[in-house]
Amino acid sequence: MPLLVMKFGGTSVADLDRIKNAAAKVRREVERGYDVIVIVSAMSGKTNELVGWVEETSPLYDAREYDAVVSSGENVTAGLMALTLQEMDVPARSWQGWQVPINTTSAHAAARFVDIPRANIDQKFAEGMKVAVVAGFQGLSPEGRITTLGRGGSDTTAVAFAAAFEAERCDIYTDVDGVYTTDPRISAKARKLDRIAFEEMLELASLGAKVLQTRSVELAMRYKVKLRVLSSFEDTDENSGTIVCDEEDIMESKVVSGVAYSRDEAKMTLVTVEDRPGIAAAIFGPLAEAGVNVDMIVQNISERDYEGHTGAVTDMTFSCPVNQVARARKAMEEARASGAIAYDDLVEDTDVAKVSVVGIGMRSHAGVAARMFQALAADGINIKVITTSEIKISVLIDRKYMELAVQALHDAFELEKAG
Ligand code: ADP
Ligand code: ASP
Ligand code: MG
Repeated sequence: MPLLVMKFGGTSVADLDRIKNAAAKVRREVERGYDVIVIVSAMSGKTNELVGWVEETSPLYDAREYDAVVSSGENVTAGLMALTLQEMDVPARSWQGWQVPINTTSAHAAARFVDIPRANIDQKFAEGMKVAVVAGFQGLSPEGRITTLGRGGSDTTAVAFAAAFEAERCDIYTDVDGVYTTDPRISAKARKLDRIAFEEMLELASLGAKVLQTRSVELAMRYKVKLRVLSSFEDTDENSGTIVCDEEDIMESKVVSGVAYSRDEAKMTLVTVEDRPGIAAAIFGPLAEAGVNVDMIVQNISERDYEGHTGAVTDMTFSCPVNQVARARKAMEEARASGAIAYDDLVEDTDVAKVSVVGIGMRSHAGVAARMFQALAADGINIKVITTSEIKISVLIDRKYMELAVQALHDAFELEKAG
């Protein structure tokens, strides 16, 4: 039997009517002759609520218990989806991660797949079951505990199942009808793309475009999974949505193909740290051990003389997600107390956002950075930190200018026009 993976995100299973709507799409594929693996998210808002409860109970929580709590939302929707399909006379059964079992690493809250044995699900298909409904976002550690894959992880569950079961396609049903040049909720001029290259999607996702989890794009690229993003609220056919594919299969040739943003960033600066070999390791080692995801790093050259300091000193600035500031501060204070590092002050700026432009065309075109900085300057937006890589440029700016910056860059690179 040909097999499809269909993933439904939170808004697509937000209540019983929406689950029925999603189930009807699954039934249509079964009627076309497919076996289907359905991956479900928690009902929209549910995971946020669960995370909130954990943080309120224990601000520096034990990640094993965080996973025990936040994985539960998907268990509910998996069971409800199987029941809804059964009510439509479609033979269906649900699986939680541990039942498959979806084996992962023990990196709680950010686990990675190790393997997905097919035997259990294959046997049920052989017995006449048409749809396996699997709870997204969760897995099982070698220690036998429940893990989760990081926010948005059900996308990655879907791609991993598509690879493991050699699915004909992996369809990600969501609340927009495809991947756009930027978040259509931020810019009315955002344009839907028929196709996007894996590399570009990977950058957009890792820079904040949450339409696909970064890891899902990585896996699809590695295992050559045919990945598609489409709407669960519209009638769809084989031509709907956006296909994520190899660069060679794309006709468009724009230098910049998308703008991404990440709203909840923080900037931290260690003021007057000693400038000596090993200082960066002494700062970023403890941050990594504390589980802080450091993103941008700037070391300022400092030739000024500081009172009370002999020898060279510098300021070290880094960015991280705003909800990791408390962890970062604790790690730095402990490192200072142990004598591993010395600094005068730790300055926190928790009102920043990151805005990025992405495009594989940047490999062969100069001048993108200048155009980006001019567009921001024209709107009076001050840039606090800049980083670049081969196919992206990111800036850290005050959060209040984030939407304005996204729109300004979308205009500056004329993304509303196909190219
Ligand atoms: P789901 O619950 O289905 O997983 P998400 O909320 O995780 O859905 O992802 C879909 C959302 O991603 C959209 O509602 C949209 O606001 C946002 N988004 C951000 N960037 C983009 C983009 N470039 N194209 C489409 N959607 C985007
Ligand atoms: N429910 C999880 C989250 O909100 C996983 C997902 O929806 O992909 O992050
Ligand atoms: Mg998502």
